Order: sequence, then structure tokens, then C-alpha cells
Amino acid sequence: MRFEVGSATDQGMVRETNQDRLLVHGNLVAVADGMGGHAGGELAAETAVDELRRLPTMTDTAQVVAGIHHANRKVLGAAERTGMTNMGTTLVAALMRPERRSVVIANVGDSRAYFMSGGDLDQITEDHSLVEDLIRAGKISEEEARDHPHRNVVTRVLGIGEDPEVDTFELAVGADDMFLLASDGLFNEVDHQVIATILDNVEDLDEAAARLVERANQNGGHDNITVVVVRIRDDEPMASTPARAEEIVDEQSLSHLPLQPSAEASGPDVDDPVEPEGPSDPPDQEVEAGSGATEVEAPVGSDPSTELEETLLGQPGEEGSGDLTTEELPPVRSRRPNRMRTFVFAVCVVAIIGLGIGGLVAYGRNAWFVSTVGNEVVIHQGRPGGVLFIEPQAVQPTGIDINDLNPGSRSRVTDVPVFGSLAEAEEFVDQLELSSLRTSE
Ligand code: MN
Repeated sequence: MRFEVGSATDQGMVRETNQDRLLVHGNLVAVADGMGGHAGGELAAETAVDELRRLPTMTDTAQVVAGIHHANRKVLGAAERTGMTNMGTTLVAALMRPERRSVVIANVGDSRAYFMSGGDLDQITEDHSLVEDLIRAGKISEEEARDHPHRNVVTRVLGIGEDPEVDTFELAVGADDMFLLASDGLFNEVDHQVIATILDNVEDLDEAAARLVERANQNGGHDNITVVVVRIRDDEPMASTPARAEEIVDEQSLSHLPLQPSAEASGPDVDDPVEPEGPSDPPDQEVEAGSGATEVEAPVGSDPSTELEETLLGQPGEEGSGDLTTEELPPVRSRRPNRMRTFVFAVCVVAIIGLGIGGLVAYGRNAWFVSTVGNEVVIHQGRPGGVLFIEPQAVQPTGIDINDLNPGSRSRVTDVPVFGSLAEAEEFVDQLELSSLRTSE
């Protein structure tokens, strides 16, 4: 089992700076949404993410909680040092544990983690926000929450008090499951179903992340937008697939560590099993952010068109270094009874066969492309050329003669562009019409 990661961050259409930060580091990914003044939010989010990056590799929930408490103390320290006392940051993190086929999610604030399995997208985390409290108390409806004047008030963050309560979730994961970490700039702008559709239809994870950001910007982009997308793979890494900007994390990266006991603790009362400033800290990572640390161009998973907001401390060559396979590793011994394993295996086999057929049909049908019938530009459903027995069908004539288009638009049509939804194909056609009108004026 391995994990693929894609990510993107963008300041949006309104804000002057990007106070979101993301982390893709080893088996840990995170999104932090900073708040509190112009520079404060950036410092808070960056401090949190940098501190998590410096920690030794984590393996269990208690370590993640301890790591977040450590990051919290560092944000408090930065606030004290700079006098920016009202700064803070949300933090949602995911620890990928391929050796246990599970993911640990930890959350403080109103950024979110989502889990997607079989096309269904579920929100895992609860927002620690005033409106969410009001909804839970039955005082306002979800709809009222959307336009609530205090929609941005967060009730739990890093950087305000000692040891904030950390919500944790442990999810069993299987092949092709995905999860998504996102700042509120995404889900306040983009409908749940649209997020699910993009995740379900875009194969390349960096592209999926970029599409989510793009959609949030199209809908107004009122806030910074940051997404980290992860997909679980259980197959052989394909040698022919370029490993560009995909990070693959697997057992090998953890294999030097002793297996931890499976008893997991969560919540605020956990003793720190991680000694964050201990001797296991690599000595070459003591670079202060902002003091000349080099900005590394898109080390992993970032949209190449946006500037990655993190400065990379330490190990630029370590991330995104390509496929690692687990084949040569000894199997991890299971603590679970074998009967359960067999049952789970049987369920998986049935599910994989079902998914294979269902997936192929979905792949063949859940696409729209634009090409011509005669000289008319027509939207088709399906894939150009068809997939097995699923032939594409012309679903929407547009009345546009390709010869009326300017040369640029014409070549965009002859490229036969493929879209994840009819709406996107229509939008593409709308833009063609505009350019044709412009040239005829
Ligand atoms: Mn935000």
C-alpha cells in the first residue's frame, strides 16, 4: 500500500496575502489557516507547519496530538516574541500509516478533513467554529450559518492557550480511497457535490487540487484556498507513469522504526511521548523561517503556477523522490485474528471485481468532450473513441460552425478537450462563442 499526494494553495481573489500553509512531509500532511492581522496569521500558520516538519517521524495518534501541542507552544512563543498576541492558526493533519492500512486525522479549528470511498465524500472533522456550535445547539440552521455575520469566528485554534483540545480520528483505508484536507476557502465556495465530482473524475492529484482551487476562485475566491489530496494505492507502481509531483509514501519510510503498541490515546490529556526538541532532531534543520531559508520551487505536489508558500527547511531532495516499493520488506505481523482478515479479504475481492466493472463503466460515461459533427461544434458524452462497449454520444449541438471561430478557438476544438462534467463542457463552449463574437465585431 502506498499513498499519492497532490496539493495546491492560492491566495484567492480578494485577500492580499496567503495566510494558509500546507505541509507534505514524509508520512504527514497538513493544512494550516492562519489568522490575526496581516503578518500574524502567516507567522502562526508557518510556525505550526514548520514545527510539525521538524518532528521525528510519527506513528500513532498520541504522537500526533503531542506534536500539535508542541507546535501550539511554538506559536505561543512566536506571538510573545513578536508582540502579535492575537494571532493563531487552525491545523488539520493526517498521518498516513500504510503498514497499518490506516490514517490518523487530527484537527483543531475550522479547516476540514474529508474522506472519499466509492464516490461518496464524507466530512470527517467537525468545525470548531461559533456557527457550528450554534448549529449543534439547534439555534440556527445550516442555511442560516452560510450567511452568518460571525461565520469566521473560530472557537479552537493553535496559539491562544496551552494544550488545545485536539480531535482525532482513525480511519481504516483501502485501495482507491481518497482523503482531502482543506482550508475554509475551499468549502465555503465550492459545494460538497462539486468537490466530490472533481475528486472522483480527475486522475492526477495535483490537477485535482488545482481544479478545486480554480473552482473556489471562480465562485468568488473570498479567502485563501488550500487543499491537500491523498489517494491510497494498493497496486504496483507503474514504471511508465511519470512520478512528477506525486509523492509516494509507504512502509519503507517507516520500516526503520519499531512498531508501536496499538493502544491509542487522544484528546488533551496525553503525556507527550514525543520529545520534540530531543536528540533525534536532525541538527541541520535549525534554520529559522524567514532568515534566508531558500524558497524551493515546487518540491512536492504544489500547483506549479502558484508559488508554494512554504520555505523548505532542510531536505529538498527527500520529498517526491519517486516510487518506493514495499516488495522486499518482510510482512508486518498482524495483531488481528486471522478469521477477520479472511473475511475482510473476501469482501475486498468482491468489491474489487465490482469496482473494476463499475469503475470502467463510470470512466467511460462520466466524461464529456467537445468535437465537431460535420462543421458543427457538438458536446458529446463519453470518451473520445469510446471505452470498450461504451460509445460516446452526441448530447448537445451548439449551433456553432467551426469555420466561424477564430483560429485559436478552432484549434481548441480540434484538440477534442475532455471535461469532468457537462457544465464544464458548456462553459468551454460559452467561451468559444465569446471569442467568435469578439472577432466578428
Ligand atoms: Mn480561511
